[in-house]
Amino acid sequence: MAVDPAFFAELEARIPKGKVRTRFAPSPTGYTHVGNLRTALYTWLIARHAGGTFILRIEDTDQVRQVEGATDVIYRTMAECGLTHDEGPDVGGPVGPYIQTERQGLYGKFAELLVEKGAAYYCFCEKTESEEDSGEFDRSDDPCRSMSAEEVAANLAAGKPYVIRQRIPHEGTTTFHDVSFGDITVENKTLDDQVLLKRDGLPTYNFANVVDDHLMGITHVVRGSEYLSSAPKYNLLYEAFGWEIPTYVHCSPVMRDQHNKMSKRHGDPSYEDLREQGYLTEAILNYVALLGWAPKGDLGEQEIFSLNELVDAFDIAGISKSPAIFDLEKLTYFNATYLRRMTPDAFAKVAEPYIRQAVKNPAYDAGEIAGLLQARCEKLTDIPEKLDFFDALPAYDKSFFVNKKSKTDETISLEMLEKAVPALEALPAWTTEAIHDALVNLAAELGVKNATLMWPVRIAAAGKLVTPGGAVEICHILGKEETLRRLRAGMAMLK
Ligand code: GLU
Repeated sequence: MAVDPAFFAELEARIPKGKVRTRFAPSPTGYTHVGNLRTALYTWLIARHAGGTFILRIEDTDQVRQVEGATDVIYRTMAECGLTHDEGPDVGGPVGPYIQTERQGLYGKFAELLVEKGAAYYCFCEKTESEEDSGEFDRSDDPCRSMSAEEVAANLAAGKPYVIRQRIPHEGTTTFHDVSFGDITVENKTLDDQVLLKRDGLPTYNFANVVDDHLMGITHVVRGSEYLSSAPKYNLLYEAFGWEIPTYVHCSPVMRDQHNKMSKRHGDPSYEDLREQGYLTEAILNYVALLGWAPKGDLGEQEIFSLNELVDAFDIAGISKSPAIFDLEKLTYFNATYLRRMTPDAFAKVAEPYIRQAVKNPAYDAGEIAGLLQARCEKLTDIPEKLDFFDALPAYDKSFFVNKKSKTDETISLEMLEKAVPALEALPAWTTEAIHDALVNLAAELGVKNATLMWPVRIAAAGKLVTPGGAVEICHILGKEETLRRLRAGMAMLK
């Protein structure tokens, strides 16, 4: 029962030609592994750098691994990262559908085509799926590999369950080329007759990726190096179909340390975890871009790249085959740099939810508080603990008023507060300038260093040794009434 050639011809006719086309093909797992984010980024950059097309394909044929809502995580992450796709399940495109389970009808026909071409065979052996996947299946023993066409037809007619396996030649070698790993040659006898089509009629990844990449006109296949060992089998499939082999870009794993890959199961953070830990998407992307890729020439020393700059600079020749180690401290450095480079308004916007975790009093201006923090935090999650003194003055120790460098002790502090309170109370307008000038003038009048006056004022206002911002800023945010209340409380404590 040969498939009508028109079926294949129609699909072939839909394939766009002449432009770079890349795809990110995640399986919906419910989170974005850092390595996958990097794959997505490189794949997107290759397309954008070349003015090509970037495709999102959802690989959901592994029904066991399905996670509720996981596809939404993919869309959300891609959108948040600015890795916009030109074709995909939600936006459509010429070679859809873009969700593998919606392509189910296709794979069986291509598997049958391969059987006709002699590059695959029906296998009726009763094996569990895990046995089939384990690669322990010894094809030389498989009676199905040499089953006559009549016997196959009879089994099919009898409704016997089957899988379709790739028929790997016993002899010879297969060579494939990868952009970073170069030419790799393997003996065919080391390759297994892998399952292409499972008993449930769904394809294995090993088959679906080849059929889909071809039918979607993918020119560059970017994926993790765990697929390198299967690449010779993919080449044999492309060759059997008579299809052009895409450019392979296999990326080495992102490691936790010298010996271990990063893994969510072992507690390493996913992209979503990093966001939750207070890292900015832009900083994560920038850092991840450099995990396994390095700019060349004039840009060789540059570290900070916007997404647009990456589009210009990205070149697949810069992808390294050595595994990269994920260093949270380095990411933190990138994050701090990004936070500092933001406009004050943009920073205030991302900081506000974190400020409001600690500062609930709406009278205290989040934008103004943000101004104190921008240069003083590395991650957004650093923010709340720095602000715990705004809503309520913490209980603090008298000894906080003693500071050698500012030349204050408890007696001097009391004196300073006694002078500061009326000076501040007399201010007609509660502006930072007015508070600043009043205190600086007072210090001059008293013949003391500014710090000798500012130290006790800040301690009394905040009840903390370390605060973001100085006395003036903190008093301004607290407002006149609350400032005076706190300064008086400090005096009472010192008396
Ligand atoms: N669905 C595969 C994965 O998530 C994609 C591999 C590929 O890009 O070909 O690992």
